[in-house]
Amino acid sequence: MADPKGFLTVTERELPARRPVPVRILDFKEVYEKGDSAVLKRQAGRCMDCGVPFCHQGCPLGNLIPEWNDLTWRGDGRGAIERLHATNNFPEFTGRLCPAPCESACVLGINQSAVTIKQVEVSIIDQAFDSGWVEAQPPERLTGKTVAVVGSGPAGLAAAQQLTRAGHTVAVYERDDRIGGLLRYGIPDFKMEKQHIDLRLAQMREEGTRFRAGVSIGTDITWSELRRRYDAVVIATGSTVPRELPIPGRDLEGVEFAMDYLVQSNRVVAGDTVEGQTTAEGKHVVVIGGGDTGADCIGTAHRQGAKSVTNLAIGKRPSDGRPDHQPWPTFPTVFEVSSAHEEGGSREYLASTVEFLGDENGRVRALRVAETEFVNGSRVPKSGTEREIPADLVLIAMGFTGPEHAELSAQSGVQFTDRGNVVRDDRFETDEPGVFVAGDAGRGQSLIVWAIAEGRSVAARVDEYLLGETVLPTPVAPT
Ligand code: SF4
Repeated sequence: MADPKGFLTVTERELPARRPVPVRILDFKEVYEKGDSAVLKRQAGRCMDCGVPFCHQGCPLGNLIPEWNDLTWRGDGRGAIERLHATNNFPEFTGRLCPAPCESACVLGINQSAVTIKQVEVSIIDQAFDSGWVEAQPPERLTGKTVAVVGSGPAGLAAAQQLTRAGHTVAVYERDDRIGGLLRYGIPDFKMEKQHIDLRLAQMREEGTRFRAGVSIGTDITWSELRRRYDAVVIATGSTVPRELPIPGRDLEGVEFAMDYLVQSNRVVAGDTVEGQTTAEGKHVVVIGGGDTGADCIGTAHRQGAKSVTNLAIGKRPSDGRPDHQPWPTFPTVFEVSSAHEEGGSREYLASTVEFLGDENGRVRALRVAETEFVNGSRVPKSGTEREIPADLVLIAMGFTGPEHAELSAQSGVQFTDRGNVVRDDRFETDEPGVFVAGDAGRGQSLIVWAIAEGRSVAARVDEYLLGETVLPTPVAPT
């Protein structure tokens, strides 16, 4: 156990400061300042090392949280990263991007604030990289088997690292020009700077994983060709089809999907030139959707110099839900609050967009919105509450409906569920033998921690398929 009296003497959460808003919106660097080691030790010391650590069950990876809390409190950073890496390939990603269901499950949260598990996690891995403790773990011998992983987001990378370390020759295919999938172009740098991806990819290359960026499976290489070249294939293409808002005016210029907007911005931040980039500079921006992607758009629009930013969501006001100090789960009924929301702009709750209004040039000029109410179990616009909100740029951030189907349907034997995800059995295998699926393409839109957990699990099933047995871990089963 960490400090036996820690939770009695330190009852409040302490997190690193966020950079001042007027300073941080001038750049895209990460919002949080570097943490203080004394504070970190104090917070890790609050962990009670529960006999039944509910934080384990809250984490799909089964992270050994009390163990690395204890090691952090004792100042054993090397031991802490060893225990953290035992269950999580990429704590630098989850420590920055995961909404931390472990903290929602923390037993300490019953009568005081939860342990700052996520902050302890990211501090352990950052110290490990800074200290040179993250070393390549190449396999002792090769199996002679080959695996293609299609998609280089968290699920694909986790599967690739596990399979490479098991001795298989693994190639990761990515249609974009850089490896990383959603991590690379979907997440703004103010949440995670991209050197964290590059550091991990360097380790994976040293271990033997091969990366093929700029190759689109189905176009540059057919699915059947891929199948011929490799002994097994893992589909980890994510859930990339955005949920549409099919209302009048949807085709007006200036009404765009959030992810298209974010990708362009993230490319520019990476140093690319994007012809005809959509930017929020000098515009009244409305973001539809109260989740993480919506918050990413808000933060990006502020940094691009938007004239105003308004966020619309179906969710309830925070005051309708649990109080701020209560860590138990509130998502999805309560509007999420992130660092981007404290940077400015306004939020409209329980707001439904019923129409986009355009000017004489076919550009959006406003949204017609209404409050909503429940009628026969469905939320519908409430009559008499309609009003207009001016807008030059509207970003639709209403989630994703599943993976893209076209090439997979035409060229492979995989099938799709009624919800649009790739069909798989209880071993992550699709209807085409030797072809597996992991992450959002099989589960549907979910959290990064689930994607990494699925990547680890599918690796075990592929290893078993290739060799007849496996010792790799399977933290989660397919849903
Ligand atoms: Fe520590 Fe909270 Fe996990 Fe208990 S539930 S072991 S207090 S992190």
